[in-house]
Amino acid sequence: MTADPRPRRTFAVISHPDAGKSTLTEALALHAAVIQEAGAVHGKAGRKGTVSDWMEMERARGISITSAALQFEHRGTVVNLVDTPGHADFSEDTYRVLSAVDSAVMLVDAAKGLEPQTLKLFRVCAQRGLPVLTVVNKWDRPGLDPFELLDQVEQQIGLKPTPLTWPVGAAGDFHGVLDRRDGHFVRFTRTAGGATRAPEEHLTPEQAEAAVGDDWVEALEGHELLSADDADHDQASYLAGRTTPVIFASALQNFGVGQLLDLLLDVAPAPGPTPAVDGGVREPGDDFSAFVFKVQSGLDAQHRDRLAYARVCSGRFERGMVVTHAATGRPFATKYAQTVFGRDRTVVETAEPGDVIGLVNAAALKVGDTVYAGKPVRYPPITSFAPEHFATATVADTGRWKSFRRGIEQLDEEGVVQVLRSEWRGEQAPVLAAVGPMQFEVVAARLESEFRAPVRLERLGYELARTVRPDQAEEVAGLRGVEVLARRDGTLLALFPDEWRLRFVQRDHPHLELTALPAGG
Ligand code: GDP
Repeated sequence: MTADPRPRRTFAVISHPDAGKSTLTEALALHAAVIQEAGAVHGKAGRKGTVSDWMEMERARGISITSAALQFEHRGTVVNLVDTPGHADFSEDTYRVLSAVDSAVMLVDAAKGLEPQTLKLFRVCAQRGLPVLTVVNKWDRPGLDPFELLDQVEQQIGLKPTPLTWPVGAAGDFHGVLDRRDGHFVRFTRTAGGATRAPEEHLTPEQAEAAVGDDWVEALEGHELLSADDADHDQASYLAGRTTPVIFASALQNFGVGQLLDLLLDVAPAPGPTPAVDGGVREPGDDFSAFVFKVQSGLDAQHRDRLAYARVCSGRFERGMVVTHAATGRPFATKYAQTVFGRDRTVVETAEPGDVIGLVNAAALKVGDTVYAGKPVRYPPITSFAPEHFATATVADTGRWKSFRRGIEQLDEEGVVQVLRSEWRGEQAPVLAAVGPMQFEVVAARLESEFRAPVRLERLGYELARTVRPDQAEEVAGLRGVEVLARRDGTLLALFPDEWRLRFVQRDHPHLELTALPAGG
């Protein structure tokens, strides 16, 4: 079998709920030829195209708990869109997805501007060094002034925006965009609900002025102001995470979607070398390796299988190959492990660096694990993120205690939730720590369905966590309103009821080292 020579682009969309991520995903798929869907979720109830339906809860609430990838082709390049579960109650999975991509698209609602979840996700991108493209969406409706939006991006996330297109006509009275690269007018034509690909007409500046008059002149002025402010695209600055190219779009009307795809191909980075724990790197052309960024259980109530989503980092994956599980040194056969894509399980024969594969029967694989063929390699674990929600879990039926303990252990290992323990709390009532409260519901549902150990969850009044030095743990634990617990990896976390209490402690006890965890902390 010969290698698939097509280049790859692997990215994720970061956005706040309702910014239009599902709409954009559908529009992208419409523009490009969809190759396959790895359980990609276009997550709204009653909407066509909702592929993932593995949990009752997910169906009932019309949201996506799972994350996977949508693969399509555009101008000869294979594009992998890795889904970020985007409900308000998002979870650590949302963050972890960002370890599987090479760049991110930040989707901003033109009327709402930057919103909290986008900011949180952006911080994870920044920490991972992911270059970010910005799409201002819903430009077909009334919204903020474009300069105001750029200001928000610059002030709140610290990236200098470099618009590649500039709107002609205000939000809501939108005629199209000025393409700042060639000076042409890309005219926007409304279609009924964006159901079909909106025709994008390209007009010369003269034709533009004749067509829309003052709005064109104003757009030209905006363009010149931007150039005077040095807000022009610079590839090196974008890749270094100092600037963010911006385009204006309407996902619903299917406008700007083709421009986004072109942009991904033209500027977004291709899969590159992956740093390993030993300090070396694995080049895309080396032997096969992949790392697991998401594990999903209970996919199929009948079979109770475990699906591990892995990003191919190097080499090519061929179904049937026997790989080594770096954590245990044991072989892992992919022979019978069909790859699950979409509603149907389609066998994927091969995959290249940047692609996402779903490995079934992956009971041994955990989030952050490496699998490889040939030369051994191990990738660093995915950082665990700052939890903001805490609850104690106790078994409802003491007769099921052993199953409960086993279940908690497994969910901790899978990364469904972080389990915190302390002598004071005891084994009976561990503390669950989550990035989003929905993680608790997943824990409760899985303990009940898979381990037949229904639980009682009791929310605790903490809002933030800081790591504590072991030699200072006792002192911190003695502070009023603060509790210290240990994570599975031994890290000690101090939980605080609120920001105010934390600041109070920091002021009165400046010698205590209380360190924020990545993202949201
Ligand atoms: P998600 O929560 O980010 O996945 O957002 P959705 O894609 O579900 O969109 C949220 C709402 O915004 C839906 O009612 C969409 O129809 C609407 N929407 C999305 N994109 C646009 C757009 O470009 N223009 C307008 N007017 N509405 C949009």
